[in-house]
Amino acid sequence: MTKYNFYAGPAILPKEVMAEASKNALELGDSGLSILEMSHRSKEVAAILDEAKSNVYELFDISPEKYDVLFLQGGASSQFFMSAMNFLGTEESAGYVDTGAWSTKAFKEASAFGKATTLAASKDKNYNYIPKGYEIPSDLKYLHITSNNTIFGTQYKDFPETTVPLVCDMSSDIFSRPLDFSKFGLIYAGAQKNLGPAGVVLVILDKEFAAKQSRDVPTMLDYQTHVKKDSAFNTPPVFPIYVSMLTMRWLKKNGGLAAMATRNTEKANLIYSEIDRNSLFYGTAATEDRSDMNVCFLLHDEAKTDAFLADCAAANIIGVKGHRSVGGFRASIYNAMPKEGVQTLVDVMKSFESKHV
Ligand SMILES: *Cc1c(COP(=O)(O)O)cnc(C)c1O
Repeated sequence: MTKYNFYAGPAILPKEVMAEASKNALELGDSGLSILEMSHRSKEVAAILDEAKSNVYELFDISPEKYDVLFLQGGASSQFFMSAMNFLGTEESAGYVDTGAWSTKAFKEASAFGKATTLAASKDKNYNYIPKGYEIPSDLKYLHITSNNTIFGTQYKDFPETTVPLVCDMSSDIFSRPLDFSKFGLIYAGAQKNLGPAGVVLVILDKEFAAKQSRDVPTMLDYQTHVKKDSAFNTPPVFPIYVSMLTMRWLKKNGGLAAMATRNTEKANLIYSEIDRNSLFYGTAATEDRSDMNVCFLLHDEAKTDAFLADCAAANIIGVKGHRSVGGFRASIYNAMPKEGVQTLVDVMKSFESKHV
């Protein structure tokens, strides 16, 4: 029996993607080899790496003349320091917005390389909102933000109004909606939330921003190494890139990012309206900043937590226990979560209310 997977990450992937990936894990096409044992220099794998890249350009509607697309390792966590190591010189300043645990970590790493300043934070309310209206000095090298806060369930609906290039951790909402790329200098996203399996991080780098590299860095940590060698300077994580490529094919087939955004908002509205209606539950994030990807909610009566989780389990729902820093519940409803999965969770909330009120 397959379950509705609401885990925050590693997370749900489209069933057809996993079916196709498993088939090719046995034999890629009629090559006689598994994709797992093939050289990254083979023509078959080269074609996969190529398609992965071109799918990124196509889905975001951006041009290879302006942007470099890279597939790197070390997770989003390595991008915390790699972005600053490359782009924050000792005498340069960068702004950081602290919207939760991941932003805090990114800021900590940057401070080692240059002048990093926290311009705004939502720590005062346990990160339940996205700060707005703070001043952004125009001479900053970049402004670092986290577009979606996986743990606290908040998401930027509009990005900050500034001419300062944004460096953005998009790990948990990449490909969930179309983007105005003119604002971004660098986007990074660990694959395992909304794109593919763990093991690869997608980086999209504006060439103009990239030209303002601040210092020489070790070869593997220099974005230009990977730009020059097309993400194959050393052995790339072929299988995670392959599965991500299949997910992007699936996104294209299902109407691209505009269609995803519509679907994601529908799914999010479905569960948020139940949270607001149901007398037993309440949402934790400020209404206008609620994430379409990670939905955090609590029971007024915490003593009923295990009973609700048991009802979820009985309905084949898994992964809704909240992160310890918020408590309660978190439903991660990434691109691959079907609407009927969200409806099933809503039905469980309704029947839970009828049993307990
Ligand atoms: C999961 C997550 C990370 C960490 O990703 P790793 O690939 O495990 O390093 C960073 N930022 C955000 C927003 C995340 O959701």
